Amino acid sequence: MTRSVLITGGNRGIGLATARAFAAQGDKVTVTYRSGEPPEGLHGVRCDVTDPESVRSAVEEARIQHGPIQVLVSNAGITRDELLVGMADEDFRAVIETNFLGAVSVAKQVVPDMIKARWGRLIFMSSMSGMAGAPGQTNYAASKAALIGFTRSLAREVGRRKITANVVSPGLIETDMVKDVTDARREHVLAQTSLGRPGTAEEVAGAVRFLASDDASYVTAAIIPVTGGLGVGH
Ligand code: NDP
Repeated sequence: MTRSVLITGGNRGIGLATARAFAAQGDKVTVTYRSGEPPEGLHGVRCDVTDPESVRSAVEEARIQHGPIQVLVSNAGITRDELLVGMADEDFRAVIETNFLGAVSVAKQVVPDMIKARWGRLIFMSSMSGMAGAPGQTNYAASKAALIGFTRSLAREVGRRKITANVVSPGLIETDMVKDVTDARREHVLAQTSLGRPGTAEEVAGAVRFLASDDASYVTAAIIPVTGGLGVGH
């Protein structure tokens, strides 16, 4: 089945790998990009998830190009790491506004069409930090934990319409986002990772694709860890 898929932050990293995975199986994919150029070979729409008007028009453009959104991968995210005592209020807010409120804003725009269609797949990109916590990430962990409560509540609201809502919770994944992580922090995390290595964006994309597939039709309100075994028990 070919579906209309929207992926936020789909111009690089995990979002881009996920977009390529859906496109490879024949889905009609729209990615949002905030800066730079859209990725080659994919339909791109400019969008800043912190701006509700930008979200509304991006969803509308995707709808015009590929039809109502059937699969949402809410992936756009940022970090602004700092210990709480030294963190600027603005950095705390920016992370909540992008990672959490941005995801809420996109979901609000796509859910009405899913309700009408009586089918949909909502997938939110959280993080192991949201469950286990991480030093320097009070803002980021709070934003990612908020996504979990949000997703589980939304799953209850829309489940009767055959719409599932799930969370993917990656561990350390090799993308631009982690290129400034110190060697000491990286070693500390990898030491707690059963597989002893970071993951790839493609490995996260595999879990997302599963959640959007018919094989996952009875999976909702779940948190799927893609962590190589980091944070077992969370
Ligand atoms: P990248 O930094 O490589 O990509 C982040 C993406 O989000 C970019 O496309 C970026 O767009 C987009 N983005 C950021 N802010 C906004 C905004 N306001 N509006 C629209 N788009 C925005 O990160 P990853 O691929 O690693 O991360 C993807 C998701 O996975 C994030 O939610 C992240 O928190 C999560 N994650 C990542 C982990 C990792 O180890 N890499 C671990 C756990 C979770 P632009 O190019 O314009 O900046």
